[in-house]
Amino acid sequence: MESAEVARRFLAFFERRGHTVVPSASLVAEDPTLLLVNAGMVPFKPYFLGQRTPPAQRMTSVQKCVRTPDIDEVGKTTRHATFFQMLGNFSIGDYFKEGAIPYAWELLTTPQSDGGFGFPEDKLWVTVYEDDDEAADIWHTKVGIPLERIQRRGLADNYWHMGVPGPGGPCSEIYYDRGPEYGREGGPVADEDRYLEVWNLVFMQSQLSAVRSKVDFDVEGDLPAKNIDTGMGLERMAAILQGVDNIYETDTLRRILDRAAELTGAVYGRDARADVSLRVVADHVRSGTMMVADGIRPGNEGRGYVLRRILRRSIRNLRLLGGQDAGLMHELTAVAIATMGEQYPELVNDAATIHTVIDAEEESFLATLRTGTAIFDTAVQETRRAGGTTLPGEQAFKLHDTYGFPIDLTLEMAAEQGLTVDEEGFRRLMAEQRERAKRDAAAKKTGNLDVSVLDELLTGAGGRVDFVGYEHVTGEA
Ligand code: ATP
Ligand code: MG
Ligand code: MG
Ligand code: MG
Repeated sequence: MESAEVARRFLAFFERRGHTVVPSASLVAEDPTLLLVNAGMVPFKPYFLGQRTPPAQRMTSVQKCVRTPDIDEVGKTTRHATFFQMLGNFSIGDYFKEGAIPYAWELLTTPQSDGGFGFPEDKLWVTVYEDDDEAADIWHTKVGIPLERIQRRGLADNYWHMGVPGPGGPCSEIYYDRGPEYGREGGPVADEDRYLEVWNLVFMQSQLSAVRSKVDFDVEGDLPAKNIDTGMGLERMAAILQGVDNIYETDTLRRILDRAAELTGAVYGRDARADVSLRVVADHVRSGTMMVADGIRPGNEGRGYVLRRILRRSIRNLRLLGGQDAGLMHELTAVAIATMGEQYPELVNDAATIHTVIDAEEESFLATLRTGTAIFDTAVQETRRAGGTTLPGEQAFKLHDTYGFPIDLTLEMAAEQGLTVDEEGFRRLMAEQRERAKRDAAAKKTGNLDVSVLDELLTGAGGRVDFVGYEHVTGEA
């Protein structure tokens, strides 16, 4: 089943059950507390909070999402993308658990010939929040799942909130058992690779006033009504339905991956490290394309920085695969536009602009790499001349900070020269820089100059005081 068909089926199922189909909102969150939309419910937040009247009490959507915190998982797990699409059904004060749970079960298990996804019942496992007897009871008595396939978990896994103040509530997740070749028996609690999480049903009922971490937050009170917010991962569903190993091998992403292999001469499935790079390229090129299409431009702050980091990571991984030439990003972006354009026609209409932005970023990063490479070569010569085998942390830091040279690239190039890098020294300088940036930001906020910086300049406690550029970036490219 094609990815686009997964989306069509989902929407049609809920439309038949009285839900209004709502188009995806832009990745650029209207919500000031978020940089990028990271879940299907984000555009519905004001309705949950009772701040706005919804156009309908039952709604369904396919929402574009970007999750930057998942970036390091991309290509390494089978299930994490930076850009993905979340299918959702929403009830604003209409049905609650007793409605949402049976709907989910029906859609997943109805045969494909009757408009469902046709999953065998015995492959499905569910989790509920540890004290949510109500949800467990609906799963068991109303739906008929045996108790041993209903597992209970704590706040970290079965309570959902946005990571910022807003609505939240206990949730119930649905997992698909991919079989023993993917890992250990024992349900999702034992192994989340074998048991792939496909759908999260959130019982939105509380208003959170402060969120300090996933498990540490304050509940201010009840929401005006009991609501349902669900999120199903389109790419994960497609992976199961297409019988492939991971989301990067599903129809749309696979076409980018294959083109990347073709352009770099890499062969997918031959070398584990190269495979990770190919998967990263496939994911990141698509993310970058979708972000640019929503009006984001590469920059040194906020979502611009997220985009820059994603594009540069693609270029870096292409380089690791042996692709050094300019123009690779153009080729790959064209594939992303073509594959995603069926669902998002604006990509095709804006193709020229998308290409201009991504080509320019590639050009500037390649220039960075060229300058950085010259500095790097000098540093290597100096290290050798001094009889050393370790590139000093200061050099790695300077390359990173002044020339935008990512540390992994320095590590990789040093290794090619038979040298190591003083990573600890590098990290220390990075941490110091972050501290400086924090102080700068704090001073900016209060409008007061943090005088401790001046003290440190005088006492020398601040370490290096080199000029590090006007545009300060705290993350790592
Ligand atoms: P995981 O535990 O696998 O990281 P999650 O619990 O963080 O997933 P939710 O916040 O519950 O995910 O999001 C709802 C659904 O969206 C998930 O069940 C999954 O199908 C999908 N999803 C979440 N994160 C990603 C991602 N990074 N890439 C692709 N799909 C995702
Ligand atoms: Mg996650
Ligand atoms: Mg999870
Ligand atoms: Mg989840």
